[in-house]
Amino acid sequence: MIVMKFGGTSVGSREAVERTVGIVRGRLQERPVVVVSAMSKVTDMLYAISDALEAGDKDAADLALAELRQKHLETAAALLPSDPIWREEAYSRISDICDSLQNFADEVIGGHLEMDKRRKAIIDSKGEYLSSNMICCYMNSVGIRTEWVDAREFMLTDNDYLQGVPDMHEIERRCPKVIDAAFAAAEAVITQGFVCKTADGSEGVLGRGGSDYSASIIGMAIDASRIEIWTDVDGVQSADPRKVSNTRRISRISFEEAAEMAAYGAKVLHPKTIEPAVSKNIPVMVLNSMNPDGQGTVILQSAFIEDGVRSVSSKENIRLVRVSQPVMTAVSELLTATFAALAESRVKVDLVKVTPRELLFTTDSTDYIAAAAQRISAFAKVSVEDGYAQISVIGKNISELKLALKAASAQLRNSPLASVAQNDSYVNISFVVPRAGVREDVQKIHTYLFGREER
Ligand code: ASP
Ligand code: MG
Repeated sequence: MIVMKFGGTSVGSREAVERTVGIVRGRLQERPVVVVSAMSKVTDMLYAISDALEAGDKDAADLALAELRQKHLETAAALLPSDPIWREEAYSRISDICDSLQNFADEVIGGHLEMDKRRKAIIDSKGEYLSSNMICCYMNSVGIRTEWVDAREFMLTDNDYLQGVPDMHEIERRCPKVIDAAFAAAEAVITQGFVCKTADGSEGVLGRGGSDYSASIIGMAIDASRIEIWTDVDGVQSADPRKVSNTRRISRISFEEAAEMAAYGAKVLHPKTIEPAVSKNIPVMVLNSMNPDGQGTVILQSAFIEDGVRSVSSKENIRLVRVSQPVMTAVSELLTATFAALAESRVKVDLVKVTPRELLFTTDSTDYIAAAAQRISAFAKVSVEDGYAQISVIGKNISELKLALKAASAQLRNSPLASVAQNDSYVNISFVVPRAGVREDVQKIHTYLFGREER
């Protein structure tokens, strides 16, 4: 079996769905489990609907709900112009989901239900149900015997409704049974990314962009021979092609490099995608559904990967936090107290630098940092500075480390915080720069390392 995950743009229109299903058709011998995201923009619409409901804005919610219904009915009509049976089936599945959403919205607006995280997650997850049902009908109508599976039968998590943490053990127990049963009478199985069922039995989600993670977890659970992540770029690139010119496709990277890149700002994969694949050593391919014959990127065990610089990535919304104590006490005490406060406030720390007088760190957590600073201010002086970005150069082995350092030397010299992390599988040189100049900085470093011409 293989897992094929298609993101929002790969299922975002009639043309995209047709292309996507054509790709799946070419893989039927391998028994594909197709994992889909919501059509592009739909999850944004759903988040807007739950915000509108929270604010009691009935008109905004109704308008968006009508738009949602229309978008899916129109796409279904375009996909199924001459198959009345599957078209009616698709209409009825779409209508059921939209009706339930509308009823839910009416209850909230009528004051019978209060919006909270649990209810928000119920709304946010509907996009994947809409797309997977619509595409299932289309696949069957074009002669691919496809079974629809509710991912909530196996994608179990803790009780965090909006950022569920998967219970891998339980998923590994349940998922193969559900998928095997679905294949009994089908050539392909389709299910949803992003959605989960929480420990208390609620309808949760894994967090924005979580479909990649879903695909990788499913691949791990069913021992897939390959996990394919289909997006709208030609695989993993040496930098973000929307921000940097002359980027190039990376043909092979290691799990560790891919995980570092995702964690340090490369927008290709959800940062947690790699973990489940690594645990069973399943190759992950990143492919372009707009260019299905392209080679994409293969993510493999480090042993199969050559040494060298792989990518330059950036995170553009970094806060630099300085913590110091007016009276000198042991640094270790300051560290212990500070990190306890950060953990309590759920702030994720990125880079850290400790000097005898001060502790410096970066974070991209915007939500919780104020609360953390408040806690820290009880025992130390703390400042949170905005307006920074962070650049990371990632590769394997130290052979080109000198080159990478040289490429970044001007930026490194002026950086308030820089770090080199290095082990057998990757090198990560990260440093903080002023946000205002980060795009030019990344471009310069990229050009230095990879040249101007496409090789
Ligand atoms: N539809 C969800 C989102 O937009 C999950 C995903 O696309 O991966 O965040
Ligand atoms: Mg997506």
